[in-house]
Amino acid sequence: MVKAIQFHRITPRVQFCGTWNYPEQFEDFLLFLCDNFEVVVPGEKRNGFVIAFDDGDRSIYDHAFPILKKYGVRAVVFLAVGYIGMEDSWDLSVLGARSHHLSWPEIHEMKEWGIEFGSHTMSHRNLTRLTADEMDFELRESKRILEEQLGPVDCISYPFNRVNKHVVTKARQTGYKFGFGGAGESELLIKKEAVYITDNVRSLKIKLAERPRILYNYDRMKQKAINCFTMVTMLTKRSFYARR
Ligand SMILES: [Zn+2]
Repeated sequence: MVKAIQFHRITPRVQFCGTWNYPEQFEDFLLFLCDNFEVVVPGEKRNGFVIAFDDGDRSIYDHAFPILKKYGVRAVVFLAVGYIGMEDSWDLSVLGARSHHLSWPEIHEMKEWGIEFGSHTMSHRNLTRLTADEMDFELRESKRILEEQLGPVDCISYPFNRVNKHVVTKARQTGYKFGFGGAGESELLIKKEAVYITDNVRSLKIKLAERPRILYNYDRMKQKAINCFTMVTMLTKRSFYARR
């Protein structure tokens, strides 16, 4: 079974959240992955590691894409489609600078080179909390828009790693073949290992090997806590913007 190594932002600018890495750090991780494992894109092989970026931050184009090109490594970027080309409304860097989401020209350039794209829904909400109609919209509309621009799209990454059997059923019905999030039980529940600023090659090795078990379990706990924290900060920021 394939497994995903999940990045968010690759930037030299210090961020408030934990979900980012320095470009040099990303390069080290990439080299380690390529030297020791098989790096694949979804659907290519039955086993291996997929390098995934969730959210579609512009820093992927600015800082990760040049490194991927340098080593000829393909990856998949999951886009929160409703935010394409927009200013990021849910995170600030330490300097207060806002980041941006990828734009269509950047996405097209990356696609032409060989980067794959998948859905990260329309509005990055917790799919397990939505009504059937809302979930349908998040899955179907994001796929429709991406396919209009890029051709067939068969991957989805569930926001906050939140997924249940209703989400999986709906994803399958909508035509997704690969779903990222969950415990790795099927191709619609491919495990994601999130990489943070606090990681190094040693901790990455533990995430990949899932050994030693005690350290690995500690890391999964940390991932859950960070996901919850992100969910709360996104909600408070949203309501702040809604009030203005
Ligand atoms: Zn996300």
